[in-house]
Amino acid sequence: MDNSFASLPPAFYTRLMPTPLPAPYLVAVSAPAAELVGLTPQQLADSLDVLIGNVAPDRALPLAAVYSGHQFGVWAGQLGDGRAMLFGDVATTQGPMELQWKGAGLTPYSRMGDGRAVLRSSIREFLCSEAMHALGVPTSRALSVAGSDQGVMRETVETSAVVVRMAQSFVRFGSFEHWFYRNKNDELKILADYVIERFYPELLGADNPYQALLAEVTRRTAHMIAHWQAVGFMHGVMNTDNMSILGLTLDYGPFGFMEAFDAQHICNHTDQQGRYSYANQPQVGHWNCYALGQALLPLIGEVEATEAALAVYQPEFAARMDELLHAKLGLSLLDQHLDADRALFDAMFALMQANSVDFTLFFRRLSGMRAADAGGDEPLRDLFLDRPAFDAWAEQYRARLRAENSDDATRRLAMNQTNPKYVLRNYLAQVAIEKAQNKDFTEVARLLTVLQRPYDEQPEHEHYAALPPDWASHLEVSCSS
Ligand code: AMP
Ligand code: MG
Ligand code: MG
Repeated sequence: MDNSFASLPPAFYTRLMPTPLPAPYLVAVSAPAAELVGLTPQQLADSLDVLIGNVAPDRALPLAAVYSGHQFGVWAGQLGDGRAMLFGDVATTQGPMELQWKGAGLTPYSRMGDGRAVLRSSIREFLCSEAMHALGVPTSRALSVAGSDQGVMRETVETSAVVVRMAQSFVRFGSFEHWFYRNKNDELKILADYVIERFYPELLGADNPYQALLAEVTRRTAHMIAHWQAVGFMHGVMNTDNMSILGLTLDYGPFGFMEAFDAQHICNHTDQQGRYSYANQPQVGHWNCYALGQALLPLIGEVEATEAALAVYQPEFAARMDELLHAKLGLSLLDQHLDADRALFDAMFALMQANSVDFTLFFRRLSGMRAADAGGDEPLRDLFLDRPAFDAWAEQYRARLRAENSDDATRRLAMNQTNPKYVLRNYLAQVAIEKAQNKDFTEVARLLTVLQRPYDEQPEHEHYAALPPDWASHLEVSCSS
């Protein structure tokens, strides 16, 4: 174990130790994440004291990093790791990965918080990190959740938990904004050079490596958000302190997957203005890149060069979205059809919206349609109240399939590899959480194995693909975790 971040000057972090938790118990481990760090699930389970943060591994250098950020569009000043602690990086087949405890106790950046995380939100972060990875979306990973009955105060008293999470880096847009807003250009340069040398070495030869960094981060962010839109993922708190400099999905709090389609849907109960609604995510991603561009301006040197780097966002987002939507509908991306295809997509989303159609079921069932006739339509058609409107759209879609001589069987296979059957619906997480709160951890494990194969038919787990039950409409998630 190493800690490359600890090689930065002390101003970037505070060295500390986690605060122990009494009588820890293991809640869950992710076998694929364990494998990535060269451990078996059993070896992880045998390291419970490490997973809960009561013992630091050999050579670990635990620290809390400082950063700032814009929250809900407003400059929030200094934030920092208020309950996350980076303890080191380990070699993996994907290069060095940093390990963090989340919920391991107070840090100098905890401000009003208690440095803890509750079991509920820890299970949500654990499951969603691994689910997003299995969906193919760039994300931080999660190794484990461990719990302790030590109480923490939220709306009610809940119990504590610690997630061990993993990413090549946890540096955020806000890590750069922190130094920019303090007029500390030396520190700004140290951080940018560290990020470029360690994570973007291919940019070292660029005419202006800082401009190249901004362009590449902007490109990755646009692609990440296109991916979110394509699987119906809503982050819920796209503050600049939650935006990864590597374009990874980071900080799973009040996230949600779209169910009954509503482009204006807000997954975070705290977000009353809907700043981070599904429809707003793409433009917020762009706004966040502007905040990063502002912070990098002293290094890039010119406003024009900065704006040129930021200008990659729209075309990169649009191109990736076109690719993903064509794949979701099983269509080839052909120039001569592009305008008509975009109209077909718009009509599809308008129809889904008008009929409150379940996002995941819609795309999964779409693969059952036939190009020649309406014979395969029934399961999909059942999702719509306005059947004539569906029939009209379906005929346009079939005509488009015939225009490229689409083969039903080939297309179905390909579509089922891009439209998941299983996503982390809020109610599925809630069922697993309530059992875990009663010390039954089997449902967390079962749900994890289902979500690790989101594209496979799993006949024994068919019910995990079902529409949410009525009670689920009352579920709310907020920033409080
Ligand atoms: P978040 O909404 O999770 O992105 O958190 C925003 C800021 O609040 C970050 O600096 C977090 O580390 C901090 N924070 C959130 N929850 C807690 C907590 N329970 N204790 C201390 N700090 C927290
Ligand atoms: Mg955060
Ligand atoms: Mg958070």
